[in-house]
Parts: sequence; structure tokens; C-alpha cells
Amino acid sequence: MNAVNQRIVLLGPPASGKGTQADRLSEAFGIPHVSTGVLLRSECDRGTALGREADAATSKGLLVSDEFVVRIVANWMQEHGTRFLFDGFPRTVGQATHLDATLISLKSPLDLVILLELSDGAIRSRIRERISCLKCGATYSTSLHTHAEGDPCPRCGAVLVRRNDDASEALEQRLIVYRDLTLPVVGYYERTAPGIMHRIDAGEGSDAIFAELSRLVGNE
Ligand code: ADP
Repeated sequence: MNAVNQRIVLLGPPASGKGTQADRLSEAFGIPHVSTGVLLRSECDRGTALGREADAATSKGLLVSDEFVVRIVANWMQEHGTRFLFDGFPRTVGQATHLDATLISLKSPLDLVILLELSDGAIRSRIRERISCLKCGATYSTSLHTHAEGDPCPRCGAVLVRRNDDASEALEQRLIVYRDLTLPVVGYYERTAPGIMHRIDAGEGSDAIFAELSRLVGNE
């Protein structure tokens, strides 16, 4: 049997399904999943000074500083070790080079980088229908599921809401930030680690995407 890949980065624009697929992969392969968006929102919920600073950026669709994000990821790795499925990190070339330096010092290089690609039109229509759990990060579509805003999250029981950064103005800003700051991360991995970089069409159905991701993670 092939060894399962253990250190995985999922890249992709808002609503490309990174969180949903990372949850499924985490359950199927037993690899810890972490979303920096969820970590940042929980920091905001706890009302810390750093959380307030993060909220000021995320609610406008802007990125939180590299310095803050690499610190919360380093804390997460100290607690969980060097097997991970990162969703939403790295989001800038600065974060990617920092992650590389950390992994080199731990002699644990990345195994896989997967880009979930989705058109801006599909992103906008998915976000219009999206409700989210701010506690566990689960997302639901009001057209595909029977859940509505204000219902309890089927997974953890917290309340489902529309994220404030899913409002159209913040979303347009997130699309600009994605194009200007996060797409260069794809170029960075294509240059520095072409053998581990893969692209998947995120417009496919969720099960087809999961099957393709499972083949990559399982090294089939
Ligand atoms: P999505 O992928 O749907 O845009 P996320 O939950 O991953 O949502 O991120 C929400 C927001 O959290 C981002 O728009 C950004 O403001 C902030 N954020 C998340 N991850 C990072 C990161 N790695 N670096 C900087 N900011 C981040």
C-alpha cells in the first residue's frame, strides 16, 4: 500500500469548497485539519485584542497580517504536530516562504499542494446562498440543504449565520485580494515544488472532487 500524504495545503478562492473537502479528507485519512479563517474567527469571538485587530481586517475582506497568521499557525503546529491539512494558509508568498522555512527546520517538507479552481461567477452565486457556522466552520447552501439562517448547526449546535465578509462589498474585496496576493502563491509552488502541485476543477460535484482529492492524498 502507498504511504498517505501527510502535509497538505489546499488553496482556492472563497467558496471553492476548501473547508468542506478538508473536513471530509481529515475524517477519511485521520489528518488534522485547520482553517486559519476559523482560527481567526474564534480569536475574534474570544474578544482578544488580536481578535479585534483581525476582525477589522476580515470584515472588510482584507487579509490579517502575515506576522499574526504565522504566529497562530506556529501555535497550532506546536499543539498538533507536523501532520496537517491547511485550508486558507498560506495566503501570501510571505506566508508560504515562512512555512517552507519552518518545515525545512523540522525536516518535514510539504507533500501536496492542491488548488481548487472556480470562476468568479460561480463564487458569487455560491456565496449568495452560503450560511456558515462560526464555531466549527461548517458551511451550508440554502439552495442545496434545508438549513436556514438562525438554525442550529447540524454538526456542533451553534447558530448558522451569514458571515459579515460574505456581504457583496467585502466579497468583491476578497476576490481582488485573492487575485493579487494569493494567486502568486500558486506561482510560487509551481516554481519551487512543481512535482507536488495539482489543480482541480472546483465546479464539479462535491463527491467527484472528494474522489479526486482522495486519490492524491492516498497516493494512488
Ligand atoms: P474564505 O476561504 O471563504 O475566504 P476563510 O475562512 O478562509 O474564508 O477566511 C476568511 C478571512 O479570514 C479572510 O478573508 C481573511 O481576512 C482572513 N484570513 C484567513 N486566513 C488568512 C491568512 N492565511 N492570512 C491572512 N488572513 C487570513
